[in-house]
Amino acid sequence: MTLRFGENARLELRELLLKKGQEIATKLTDLLSGKKLDLTNIDRIADVTPGMRAEDRLRAYLSFLNDKRKLLDDDNDAYGRCSECNVDLGLTSLREMPWADRCQDCHG
Ligand SMILES: [Zn+2]
Repeated sequence: MTLRFGENARLELRELLLKKGQEIATKLTDLLSGKKLDLTNIDRIADVTPGMRAEDRLRAYLSFLNDKRKLLDDDNDAYGRCSECNVDLGLTSLREMPWADRCQDCHG
């Protein structure tokens, strides 16, 4: 299998994914303890359906991030590619958003 990222870049992206996961896990804890949260950005991920409860949205987000990290850990070539047109999202974009799974064109 061809590694598209160097080892350093892979570790860096992995770290960013973990950090985001911690952020979402914290939100989930806050939510379950009764805090009000702004979840505007949570809606952007694929597995979320309208009308879903906030805590389920956060759980879906966590498992989504987890799946991305697994792809990265497995050196799976699907990581960092658009899920629709398969274009390589590129390291620059992935550093901004390591959980991205769609290119600008397909994001529409
Ligand atoms: Zn695309």
